[in-house]
Amino acid sequence: MNEEKLRFIDEYRNKELLLKLIKKIKREIDNPIKIMEVCGTHTISISKFGIRKLLKGKVDLTSGPGCPVCVTPNEDIDWIIELCRKFKEKICLTVFGDIMRVPGSNSSLFIEKAKGADIRVVYSPIEAIEIAKKRKDLKIVFFGIGFETTAPSIAISLIEAKKNKMENFYLYSAHKLIPPALDALLSLGEIKLNGFILPGHVSTIIGSNPYKPILKKHGLAGVITGFEPLDIIQALLILNELIKNKIYDVKIQYSRSVKPEGNEKAKKIMNNVFKECNSIWRGLGEIPNSGLELREEYNDMNAKLHFDINIPPKYENPACKCGEVLRGIIYPFECPLFAKACTPNSPIGPCMVSSEGACAAWYTYEDWRKYKEMIKNE
Ligand code: SF4
Repeated sequence: MNEEKLRFIDEYRNKELLLKLIKKIKREIDNPIKIMEVCGTHTISISKFGIRKLLKGKVDLTSGPGCPVCVTPNEDIDWIIELCRKFKEKICLTVFGDIMRVPGSNSSLFIEKAKGADIRVVYSPIEAIEIAKKRKDLKIVFFGIGFETTAPSIAISLIEAKKNKMENFYLYSAHKLIPPALDALLSLGEIKLNGFILPGHVSTIIGSNPYKPILKKHGLAGVITGFEPLDIIQALLILNELIKNKIYDVKIQYSRSVKPEGNEKAKKIMNNVFKECNSIWRGLGEIPNSGLELREEYNDMNAKLHFDINIPPKYENPACKCGEVLRGIIYPFECPLFAKACTPNSPIGPCMVSSEGACAAWYTYEDWRKYKEMIKNE
């Protein structure tokens, strides 16, 4: 990274300015507010930079369904594992690294790889295409997880595969869309929030407009923000103003990347390849129009249509509370397995596996023993 870029990041981590704004928030917030962030990168920043601790008593920050690995349900992981087992010699599965250790009902991709399945971690779907070009003897399947952030690049890889008339590349699409999930979460009525810190990367693609009707419907404020500590603090200040004035709308703090209308080119590419479908979310169940499925023109690359896979009914560890964590109704340390049976070295649920998971963030950065004590004494 060049010096200029480092200076640029330093500005967003300026300690004096940060402490000044923290003081300002503490002065300006009369009644404590409860805010949910719906992006794993925000979750990590909030914990890593000690923002939760600095604002204790004024802002209660809770994580929502914003970690792509965490919201991928057992049904999808089980399907992929069964694919690796049934077509062991014939396929090569390509995945993003975080999903490897997430347990499905009875195994994980990590275990299946150890047993001999050809599973390769890639950093982009284009890498998977490169493997498909070189290994014509294998069927290359890409396990596509993630939100609106990753869907456009995966759409590009499919367009590329079609252009090159590739006959050995397939996508299993488990992509999800953030706005319908927020609506579904709020409609459950389990959690009382004042507002959202909305995801910067997702919003770079979709813009701010899709959140407007949801915020209005549920009487909440939202701010799209960047990932540095000053971004988040500034977003909280804006949120507080919106909440105080009962403005149920979305504002963009992350204006260096997000426009109200989003990225038209990326949306067009995404819409050319994908269409909306119902989708199952861990912790939230099936949500209408919250997923992305391949359009009919891409049927020949749709792994769900090409491979005949049957999976037995799913099994969930009854003690794992990932669903409740993802709905923001418990803090990670309230799960009975947290820091006992479940740690980043031996994770039981995806929220501890993923580098963007709430349980991993709390375990790694937060003084969770103090919070636990505090809750016990309330
Ligand atoms: S501590 Fe582990 S088992 Fe409990 S909710 Fe978190 S990831 Fe799931």
